[in-house]
Amino acid sequence: MSQISRIRGTNDFLYNDSRKLRYIEEILHKKSRIYNFEQIRLPIFEYTDLFQRGIGEETDIVSKEMFTFTDRGNRSITLRPEGTAGTVRAAIENSLLNERSINKIYYIGSMYRAERPQKGRYREFNQYGIECIGSDSPHTDAEIIALNLDILKTLSSNLNCEALSILNLEINTVGCEKCKPKYNDALSKQLASQKDKLCTVCQNRYDKNILRILDCKNEGCISILENVVKMYDYACDECKAHFNILCDALNKMNIDFNINPKLVRGLDYYTKTAFEIKSNYLGTQSALAGGGRYDNLIGIFNNGKQVPAVGSAMGIERLLIILEDSNFDNTIKNSIDIFVVLFKETSNVGIEIINKLRQKNVSVESDFNIRSIKSQFKTADKYNAKYALILGPDEVLDNKATIRDMNTGDETKVSFETLESVILSKLK
Ligand code: ATP
Ligand code: MG
Repeated sequence: MSQISRIRGTNDFLYNDSRKLRYIEEILHKKSRIYNFEQIRLPIFEYTDLFQRGIGEETDIVSKEMFTFTDRGNRSITLRPEGTAGTVRAAIENSLLNERSINKIYYIGSMYRAERPQKGRYREFNQYGIECIGSDSPHTDAEIIALNLDILKTLSSNLNCEALSILNLEINTVGCEKCKPKYNDALSKQLASQKDKLCTVCQNRYDKNILRILDCKNEGCISILENVVKMYDYACDECKAHFNILCDALNKMNIDFNINPKLVRGLDYYTKTAFEIKSNYLGTQSALAGGGRYDNLIGIFNNGKQVPAVGSAMGIERLLIILEDSNFDNTIKNSIDIFVVLFKETSNVGIEIINKLRQKNVSVESDFNIRSIKSQFKTADKYNAKYALILGPDEVLDNKATIRDMNTGDETKVSFETLESVILSKLK
């Protein structure tokens, strides 16, 4: 029988990696709280319709990247490829948008996209997403960007990660329903004579979703687009003002940014701000986080009643790749307090002592297979035990045990009566 392997594009996070994830998650929770975002946990699968309408049929995600299946009741179900659609669904379904309040939401969870697996691009991956629903202020856009950068800066300094300290924030405006059509027209006119020189994907985009041509990675398309018209020049006064205030706010917070006029989010309900945080360290998959405003999305699910919103998502696996260049491994090194060295005759006493210590929150391990003393000490080293507690048969008969400091090798004999208090004071 052939060996069962994991599905292509998925990852096993073993001990060390899992610890890294937990470390990152703790920072994500902590920083989210500082900016007053609240966590939500939503289903991993939803009705396909939610994503078709909420992300858009013409996007890469919906047109070719979704894991969709039919359930036993013949309903079309999709593994979530991103978190915004589900967040909006949950906010409406749970009546969070009824009051005229602002909802500041974050999530951490796995997403699923049927992409060609490569470094930094997986079929199952994790995102940290934040959404602020109910504010139309450019200062909220700035706050979302600041939170992302704050997290990355903290990780960079905690873990001594040089690569994370040199990131590139790109921003742009994609306009709104008033000005975007004018820009699309101008783009369409400018590219008309060169349409047949565009890649086949972009020829299709030209008719269906022309904005997306701007972020085509094809060399031919890139050179055609070199001097393409800029959205900002076609933006209405409101969108221009929004963008200018955002730039001011970023300056006030000392956040460096580059304006990239070709940065887009492809659908009509994306409005105004678009941003991306990139790292050269990631190579082709350079985007670490991306986001923007979606003032016209919520109305699609909310009987036409629009609620302004802005959000972003960060790829946690891409973050882990950048953090390869850091002292993460040292920072998260695990250790235990006590390794109890046992003999066949003393494992009964051992389990009693081990249990008592654990009740006092001392981390304790032992080897109930009772291998040789040498191999038990090896195991103690493997777990980075601070102390070994040796329960030798003769000592135990005498109600005594030996504590060895694993760093210095110093040994002290202790009676069972005082064992617990001696250990607790040594660990203080
Ligand atoms: P890309 O241009 O790399 O495909 P995207 O525009 O599809 O990214 P978003 O949908 O904005 O990405 O998702 C936000 C973040 O999630 C990305 O910046 C990236 O860090 C991460 N991400 C997206 N797709 C994947 C994937 N298949 N594997 C790992 N991380 C991903
Ligand atoms: Mg993608």
